[in-house]
Amino acid sequence: MNRIASLRLTALVVGLFAAGPAAAASWSYEGHGGPAEWAKISTDFAACEGKDQSPIDIKNPIPARLGEIKVSYRPQSLAVINNGHTIQVNFKPGNSMEFEGETFDLVQYHFHTPSEHAFDGKRSPMEAHLVHKGATSGKLAVLGVMMVPGKPNDTIEAIWNAMPTEAGPEKEVAEALLNPQALLPANQSYFRYEGSLTTPPCSEVVKWINLKQPIEVSQAQLDRFAKLFPMNARPLQPVNRRFILETEGK
Ligand SMILES: [Zn+2]
Repeated sequence: MNRIASLRLTALVVGLFAAGPAAAASWSYEGHGGPAEWAKISTDFAACEGKDQSPIDIKNPIPARLGEIKVSYRPQSLAVINNGHTIQVNFKPGNSMEFEGETFDLVQYHFHTPSEHAFDGKRSPMEAHLVHKGATSGKLAVLGVMMVPGKPNDTIEAIWNAMPTEAGPEKEVAEALLNPQALLPANQSYFRYEGSLTTPPCSEVVKWINLKQPIEVSQAQLDRFAKLFPMNARPLQPVNRRFILETEGK
C-alpha cells in the first residue's frame, strides 16, 4: 500500500471510530441534546414527545387483581458494557419471566441515578431496570427496582468491580457467575402501567412493573456508580390518560 492510500485508510478508520461514540453521544441528560430536545434530534426519536412516556410519578394507584411475576433466572457469566449513558449487563437467552400470559426473555439490565420513577413524589438514590422482551408480542416488560442505602449487595459489587470506566465494547468476565435474582426484593408486589423506554427512541412499547419494595446497596456502592454517572435519569413525564394499577393487599 502506498503512503497516500495508507493515510486515507487511517483517516477512514479514525473517522469510523469517531462516528461511533459521537453518534451514541448525540443525546444526553443535561444541556445540549438533553431530554427537552430528544424528539428533535432525530425523526427516529419522535416518540419522545408522545403521550405515554416514562418515567412517571407513581401516585394514587388503583388496587387491582394483578397476576404474579414468575421469574426463572439462573447464574450466567458477566457481560458488562459502559454505553456512555449507563452500565449495562447483557444476557444470552435462557432467563425468562412469565407475566400476563406471555413469556418474556431477559435481555439486559442497567442502572439509573437518581431513580427515574418516583413513588408519591419521592425518588430513590438509584433504580435498576431489568429489560425483558416478549417472545410472541415483541413488547417489552421492564422490572423497575428501587435501590436504597443499606447493606452492601454482592452482585452489585461484582458488576462495579468489572464495569468499564469509559464507553466502549462489551467486556466478559467468565469467572463472575451472577444471578439476576439477586437484584429482586423478597416481596414482589408491584405497580403496573403502560409506558415507554426512558431513553431515545422512547418507544411506547413497555409494560412497566415497578416493584414496591426496594433492594439495599451500600452508600459506597451508590457513590461508586454516581462517580461515573452523576445523573442519568430522565425527568418525570405526564401521566395523561393512563391508569396506574397496584397489586392488592401487602
Ligand atoms: Zn432504564
